[in-house]
Amino acid sequence: MGQRLIYLDNNATTPTDPRAVEAMLPYFYENPGNAASRNHPAGWVAEGAVDTAREQIAALINVDPREIIFTSGATESDNLAIKGVFEMYARKGNHIITVKTEHKAVLDACKRVEKMGGEVTYLDVDSKGLIDLAELEAAITDKTILVSVMWANNETGVIQPMKAIGEICARRGVLFMSDATQAVGKIPVDPKETGVHLLAFTSHKMYGPKGVGALFVNRKNPRVKVTSQMDGGGHERGMRSGTLNVPGIVGFGKAAEIAKAEMAEDAARTKRLRDKLETALVGMLEEAYINGSVEHRMPHVTNISFKHVEGEGLMMTFNQNIALSSGSACTSASLEPSYVLVALGLGDDLAHSSLRFSLGRFTTEEDIDATIKQVAEGVNHMRELSPIWEMYKEGIDIDAIEWSEH
Ligand SMILES: *Cc1c(COP(=O)(O)O)cnc(C)c1O
Repeated sequence: MGQRLIYLDNNATTPTDPRAVEAMLPYFYENPGNAASRNHPAGWVAEGAVDTAREQIAALINVDPREIIFTSGATESDNLAIKGVFEMYARKGNHIITVKTEHKAVLDACKRVEKMGGEVTYLDVDSKGLIDLAELEAAITDKTILVSVMWANNETGVIQPMKAIGEICARRGVLFMSDATQAVGKIPVDPKETGVHLLAFTSHKMYGPKGVGALFVNRKNPRVKVTSQMDGGGHERGMRSGTLNVPGIVGFGKAAEIAKAEMAEDAARTKRLRDKLETALVGMLEEAYINGSVEHRMPHVTNISFKHVEGEGLMMTFNQNIALSSGSACTSASLEPSYVLVALGLGDDLAHSSLRFSLGRFTTEEDIDATIKQVAEGVNHMRELSPIWEMYKEGIDIDAIEWSEH
């Protein structure tokens, strides 16, 4: 008998809410228009649908609809913000400040900026995953044009002190950008109140369809501009050319409307289930550690290391039933420990022994009960087979052993 897949990988992507799918359907066949076709009703219908979605998305983050630029996703939004600011403000300076635990879309865009002659400072985080505000302030120079700090981390759920960072940026006159992909739609995000000038986010992490995202660009005080990275028809106020993905945008808008209405309820429910899962696993299993701040954290995420148990191997014990992520990243050459967990100070072994559980709107109590059972069984099973665990139980200090290299 096939078991239902338990989906606890909502930070990788969320299922599309059926209500968003429903809203999209009329924009494939019945309403085929291009939102840029201004000379016939089909175009007007598409444009109207895009306008509605823009309003729904703007309302979710409390900004003017004219400040929303549609893109293909958060990767593109991050690239547009970072490279676009770097090019637009080249006369003012060439220095960008970001953080070691950012998403690759930000880090790799910054690497590109370095290749183009820019200078980038990568701030450290403490063992909780939080940046040091004094360090940030000290890193700002008269050449600094942008500070880019993610709102919430995708691996740990840790939330940075956004308002305090916004105050520093305002005082020092530098633009503040945030990859808020993991926060928008799940906790209140208000860029204006927080002093954020550019905000990147994506539909498919908030129960909308994949392949559509947005960049908020502040219009007034200051009026922020980014150099477009795509040449073409000059759509989206000249900042992002390309025919708009009308059905995708409609679904994104609907997802934003639902998120605004149900955010508090969703957060409370996932937090209760997350806490249940976490308390049970940390309570039942020896040597289980929660990674990152438990105080400044998203309500639906927990990242736990099970010492002396290799996460990828642990996942194999229930791979057919539970979808989640480990603290190991597959690179072309090998299995690398997560750079985010390493930045928190975890050794390679503890990073490799971590699992990320990211709950969502459709996670049920039964999912969590089954997960607790299967993960606990898996950890115990792997430890029973492990000579390292046996040595640990016999009181041998594993970390003090000098393994011979071959
Ligand atoms: C998923 C994710 C992205 C990339 O978003 P896409 O829409 O898939 O391009 C960027 N940043 C963070 C923090 C993410 O979690």
